[in-house]
Amino acid sequence: MELKDKVVVITGAGRGLGRGMAMTFAGKGANVAIVDLNEDDIAQTVALCEELGVKAKGFKVNVAQEAEVEKLFNDVVTEFGTLSGVVNNAGITRDGLLIKAKDGTITKMSAQQWQMVIDVNLTGVFLCAREAAAKMIELGVDEGVIVNISSLARHGSFGQTNYSAAKAGVVAMTEVWAKELSRYNIRTGAIAPGTINTDMIASMKPEARDRLIGAVPLKRLGEAENIAKAATFIFENDYFTGRVVEVDGGLR
Ligand code: NAD
Repeated sequence: MELKDKVVVITGAGRGLGRGMAMTFAGKGANVAIVDLNEDDIAQTVALCEELGVKAKGFKVNVAQEAEVEKLFNDVVTEFGTLSGVVNNAGITRDGLLIKAKDGTITKMSAQQWQMVIDVNLTGVFLCAREAAAKMIELGVDEGVIVNISSLARHGSFGQTNYSAAKAGVVAMTEVWAKELSRYNIRTGAIAPGTINTDMIASMKPEARDRLIGAVPLKRLGEAENIAKAATFIFENDYFTGRVVEVDGGLR
């Protein structure tokens, strides 16, 4: 897919990796729909993308709410006239570790912590992908792309039963949709970032953060741009579908 003049929805694009991806897509000439919860963050990302000469519009939407997501994709098509793809990036953590510092295991994870992460990181991805696919099929687009942000944690991360389960589920859905949607030339891909320099990592305890960096063969954090490059690769490479791109400095 040639990104110039395409229309891409990016969730969780108010900051962090999502903002980085929005700016990279805009830099390649794609018009972008910026989805997030915080209006100030949304406005900042929209302004940064507009400076790159594309159309950008913000949408305050909770990706875990079905009615809001349905309205989002209707509004995007009304506003932009078409839809070329979605990057399902919005995500949260509610770790066992942060709540009970000394023994953050499954035994300390509440059902509420479990459900909050599943709602956003798994159900949110399902809802956005479903609505995006339905719209692209209805519009009869020549080509569509669904990118899902997974994580290295999909292999099982201490203190993160909820997050690891959701991020593994995201990869499974990526494979399902490759099989189901290829007939419409809608491709899928997942990205599994390692430790990337964003607010999510900044909120970790310094010792835990240093331990993480020490374990990375490249001995540094990744940057948002490293993930954005993987996202544009999936959009641009028309023989890529159903697979995971790992961008982790060799950590796994
Ligand atoms: P971040 O917290 O900086 O940004 C996440 C964004 O998602 C925020 O702007 C937040 O408001 C938004 N969001 C949260 N819940 C939402 C909801 N219900 N509806 C709409 N928007 C919502 O996080 P980040 O580090 O940029 O991470 C982005 C994605 O990458 C997440 O899916 C995360 O799990 C994944 N990831 C990050 C890292 C990392 O090292 N930063 C590593 C692996 C995977």
